[in-house]
Order: sequence, then structure tokens, then C-alpha cells
Amino acid sequence: MIDYNKIKVTIDTNKLISNYRLLSSKGSNLLPVIKSDAYGHGMQEVAKILAAQGADSFGVGTTEEAVKLREVFDGTIVSMLGPQEEEDYRAIAECGVIPFVFRFDQIRKLNEVAEKTGNRIPIALKFDTGMGRLGFSESETEKVTERLNRCTHLKPQMLCSHLASADVTDYEDFTREQGRCLDRIMAVFAGSGFNLKVSMANSAGLLAYPDLHYDIQRPGIALYGSNSFAGTTWQEKGEGLQSCMEVSTPIIQFRNLGKGSPISYGCTWRASRPTRAAIVASGYADLFSRGLSNKGFMLVNGKRAPVIGRVCMQMTAIDITDIPGIEIGDSAYLLGGMGDQSITPEELAEWWGTITYEVFCVLGFNKRHHI
Ligand SMILES: *Cc1c(COP(=O)(O)O)cnc(C)c1O
Repeated sequence: MIDYNKIKVTIDTNKLISNYRLLSSKGSNLLPVIKSDAYGHGMQEVAKILAAQGADSFGVGTTEEAVKLREVFDGTIVSMLGPQEEEDYRAIAECGVIPFVFRFDQIRKLNEVAEKTGNRIPIALKFDTGMGRLGFSESETEKVTERLNRCTHLKPQMLCSHLASADVTDYEDFTREQGRCLDRIMAVFAGSGFNLKVSMANSAGLLAYPDLHYDIQRPGIALYGSNSFAGTTWQEKGEGLQSCMEVSTPIIQFRNLGKGSPISYGCTWRASRPTRAAIVASGYADLFSRGLSNKGFMLVNGKRAPVIGRVCMQMTAIDITDIPGIEIGDSAYLLGGMGDQSITPEELAEWWGTITYEVFCVLGFNKRHHI
């Protein structure tokens, strides 16, 4: 985490709670996903807040994240990247973490560790049904069940898969085919006497595919207030979610530029009219990407000020010609801000050339305040 800069990241915990309640009302049993420091919102803080609202389980990525979460949370922790290093296997046994398991060597090593410690280790079987990333493939299902039948020190509890394109409205058929593939895998497990909780839905699956909810839903991005369907014909499926992250920085200088005057490195922008510019105290070292040079807006006094010229290391220029009454020290909002002009994560992501997930994860590396 960077903690020597002027940028200020605020996490609104009431909005987080409101999103959690909204999503809880849509699902049957949530496994909130708080990997990557809760998408930049603070893993331990988010876990404590949601646990106080009744969350009894969380999904993280690495085993290290799971160990860190165990410091503040007694309930179910699922590590979705599974064991990789030797110490991961020990940590999983010691901290009572449920790992995603997607390779035969993981099954073998976990069984060995469980045998040594004398405690059965609960596991979640991960299958690839169309994402093409982690997971056993459908054709390996019988081999997996046979192997598990011999690994008596393991306790298979969950059967999981991940949706690739549930947030793309054109991919409804593809998404449902992933469900049918998971159904076939489920049938093989049931036929071999396994009784597993099944989980496939991410945020988009939770919001738009009740038929793919199975036993446990794993929302991530929607918890933090980004609607998977923003700007699509399915937008209303994520209605009511509120973005929790707000990012601001102080104004530290004004400049009056005559027509034709340039601003910032490389003179990439020139005033087309007499312009009043403000310099704000954040730049790419604060992870406000240099790719935002001459792109997008910040919010000052409730109004949009365009970013002008190149984003610098610790500074950025904005055009405030049309926004009166600004003083040194006032806040410029890179994300959020008050009023109907508030900058949404979807807009910032669009200007940035990325998705809200990356905007949150990256800006969340800065020093955060939870309110
Ligand atoms: C990140 C992740 C999720 C959550 O996805 P969202 O799109 O953020 O809801 C769910 N399951 C797995 C396996 C993940 O890696």
C-alpha cells in the first residue's frame, strides 16, 4: 500500500452493507468474494463488516490471503487459487481453509498432509465448464471421483465452476451450456455417492441467472457496487447497487492560460480559449493512469472538469474555466463525488480503457479510510 501521497480513497461501509443486503435478497447462500484485498476495498475490513451482517463464509484467492483473513474471521474461508507452494498445504491444514482443487497432484499432497495431521481436510472441486482457465475438465470427472474415493483423509464439500461471460447479454446460450456441463459433472459425483454443495454464479450469474444459482453464489464486483450490466439492456438487473469507493485529491495551484498556451509535458494540450486550469496533487504514481492524459473528467464543486494535458507523476491538470468558486485545498474527485454529476466507476473505467474491477483494485492500493 502507498501511504505517502495526497490521494484519498474512502470506502463507504454503509453502501457496502446495502449492496450485501440487496445481493443476499437475490441469492440463497452467498460466499462473498474478497480476493485481491476485497478488490481494493480492504480484505480484513470488508470481512469484519460483512461478518457483522451475518456473512458466514468468504472466498479469497491465494492461501496467503486465506491465512490473513483467518486472523479476523472464524467462519468458512475458501481459497480459490488453491495450494501452490509447500507451505500452502501446511497452512490449509492449520488454518482450516477450504481450497479449490483442480489438479491431481493437489489431491495427492492434501491427502498426505491430512494423513500426517490426523484431521480430514475439506476441499472444493473445481471444474472448467467453459472458462478455459482453472479446473478439471468434464472428461476427467470419473477419474477424479475414483481418486477421491481412495483419498480417505479428504472431505469433498463443494463442486465449483466459474462463468466466463454471464455479464455479456449475447452469451446467454453459452452461459446456460456451462450450467448443463456442470449438471452432468454433478450427476457423476452424485452417482458415486458424493454429497456436494454446488457453486457457479459470480455477480452477473447471481443478478441474471436464477436457474444457475445452485447452492452457493459467489458475488465479487457487485458487492462493491458495480453493476455487471451497466449500459446494457439488462441494466435493471443490477439496479440499486451503490459504488462504495470514492477517490479525491486536493487542488494545489491555479493557472490562467491564454489562448494557444500549452499545459504539462509534451505540450499535448493547448488552450482553445482563455482557460483557467487547476493542478491537482495526484498522478500516475498514485495509480491514476497516465493513459488518462487528455481523457475523462474529475468532479469539482459538483461539476465535471476535463483532464487536460499529460498526467504527471504526482500531479494532473484539469480545466475549471466553467466552474466558479473553487479555492486552493478544495477536493477534486477522480471517482465518486456529490451530486448527479458524480463520477461512476463505469465511466472512469471507460476513459481508462479498462473495467471497474481494475479501477477498484488499482486505486485501492492507495491509503484508504473506511467511513
Ligand atoms: C473473482 C471470482 C468471483 C467473483 O466474480 P465477480 O465477477 O467479481 O462477481 C467468483 N468466483 C471466482 C472463482 C472468482 O475468481
